[in-house]
Order: sequence, then structure tokens, then C-alpha cells
Amino acid sequence: LHPLNQGLLMRNEGELRPCTPSGSMLLIDLAHSSQALDREFSVDLLPKTSLAGKRAVVVGRSVLVGKPVGLMLLERNATVTYAHSKTENLGQICKEADILVAAVGQENLIKGSWIKPGAVVIDVGMNRTKEGRLCGDVDFVEAEKIASAITPVPGGVGPMTVAMLIRNTLQSYLGRTA
Ligand code: NDP
Repeated sequence: LHPLNQGLLMRNEGELRPCTPSGSMLLIDLAHSSQALDREFSVDLLPKTSLAGKRAVVVGRSVLVGKPVGLMLLERNATVTYAHSKTENLGQICKEADILVAAVGQENLIKGSWIKPGAVVIDVGMNRTKEGRLCGDVDFVEAEKIASAITPVPGGVGPMTVAMLIRNTLQSYLGRTA
């Protein structure tokens, strides 16, 4: 999240990428991979999917999640659309997405009917319902019937963020001592 690393991302240079977007990209790679999630599984062996020809829609444009994940999708050759609070026809735009990343912070903003059949849906949102339950930005129950892959909340992007933080810490340490 440091401006230097953000600048490097803008230039498709460097290796340190912010944690939540990195975790989201790994989940997108996993959704496109046939690699079995067994004891041999390692995220470092997961091929980086080319997203050429894919439409990606990122809902949210924060410095923390939306903007960098959009740049990382662009880095993989996806055609990226950013949506935000001033966007009109949000449902129609989401429906065009082969890859939909929701990073808003509003419970059930993204309806099941907004999901393109077979889309990969990454729900970054972390919201609390009136009953105190954690939930994402996507109506999971409806969306999972239509998407080819979808991340749950909790248990999706959150743990990946932590994993990427540990990976970035190790990578930074190795970089300094190399
Ligand atoms: P911000 O509040 O910084 O950004 C929210 C974005 O959503 C803004 O760009 C805003 O638009 C947009 N937005 C708000 N309302 C709407 C709407 N009705 N339609 C379309 N877009 C809208 O939040 P963050 O990016 O920091 O976080 C987003 C969510 O992700 C939160 O729930 C947060 O808790 C969660 N999160 C989860 C993480 C994880 O590890 N799982 C890590 C980080 C965040 P505008 O710019 O126009 O205001």
C-alpha cells in the first residue's frame, strides 16, 4: 500500500502487491485451474492465468482494494471496468463480467440476477448483519447457483489476505538479505 509499491504496480514492475488484491488474484487463478486441492497443492505452483479476452468488473475503487485489484487484472490482460457509488446501471455492468470483484462494504448489494452465468465471483466485502453475522457484498445464496466459482464470507478473501501478508513479509525479508 506504500505509494512506491503502488507506483511500481502502475508500471507493471516490482513484485510486492497489496495483500487483499493478491489473495483475490490467487483465488481467480484457482478458479481457472484444474489443480487438485490435495496435500501436494501449493499456491506457488498455481499457474498465473491469462485473462486475455475476459471482461472483469471491479465494484469499488478504494486505494486498499478496488484500484489495485483492477490494475492487477489489467496486468493479466483482462478488460477491466471500475464501478463505484456514482455508477449508473450497476446491475447491467456486473452482468457483463466474466470475473466480478465486489469490494464495497454493503450487505447483499450484488444480486444473484446480476451474475453472468459461469462468472467467477470474488466477494471482498465484510459486513455485519443486524443479527451480528458476517456477510459479504454479494447475495451468496442466489449467486452461487449461477457463478462457476464464488468466494464465501467469511472464509474466502479474508484468510487469503492474511496468507498474502505473511508471504509479502517473507518476500521482503528475503529481498533485503539477498
Ligand atoms: P471503501 O469504503 O474505501 O470503498 C468502498 C467503495 O465502494 C468505494 O469506491 C465506493 O464508491 C464504492 N461504493 C459504495 N457504495 C456503492 C454502491 N452503492 N454501488 C457501487 N459502489 C459503491 O472500502 P474498502 O475498499 O476499504 O473495503 C471494501 C469492503 O471490503 C469492506 O466491506 C471492507 O471491510 C472489506 N475488506 C475486506 C478485506 C478482506 O481481507 N476480506 C480487506 C479489506 C477490505 P466511491 O469511491 O464512489 O465512494
